[in-house]
Formats: sequence, C-alpha cells, structure tokens
Amino acid sequence: MATIENMLLDPHVLEVLTKAESTPEGSTVYYKWTCQGCGERVTCDIPNSLYTSFLHVDCGYETLTVEGNLGFLLLIGEGWGEKEDKR
Ligand SMILES: [Zn+2]
Repeated sequence: MATIENMLLDPHVLEVLTKAESTPEGSTVYYKWTCQGCGERVTCDIPNSLYTSFLHVDCGYETLTVEGNLGFLLLIGEGWGEKEDKR
C-alpha cells in the first residue's frame, strides 16, 4: 500500500530524502522518478514536494515512489528562497 510510513521504510527513498533535506538553505529540490509505465525519467514540477506516488501526465501512469528509482534535481541560486527582511 502506498502510505507515507511504508515509503519511509524504503532505504533508497530514505537516503534520497535525507540528502534532499541536507541541501543548502535557499535551494530548491525537485524530485525525479522513472515512470514504470513508459520508462521515462520524469521530474515533478512542484518544488520541495515528495509524494507516495507520482503521476506521469504524458502517459497517465501512476508510479509508486518506492518503485520509481527516486532521485532529485537541485536548484541553487539567487532569487531562490529569498529571505524576509525583518528590520
Ligand atoms: Zn510514463
């Protein structure tokens, strides 16, 4: 079953999640998976969001995150994660 608990028991998902969470402040993470329907490597277009399954819009197949060889794309740079001015 695709529950968050089951997903976090998966060593590979846990490893990717740990790496993604230890990225520099102000960086943005986009999770990637391999679609089990068509084999394409797909990047989620919602930043910093991990789901128990991902829908590949192009082919309509929903891949369980634990079966999708999870990875992530990291964006670091100016304009990302701007800090609030608290003066
Ligand atoms: Zn697909």
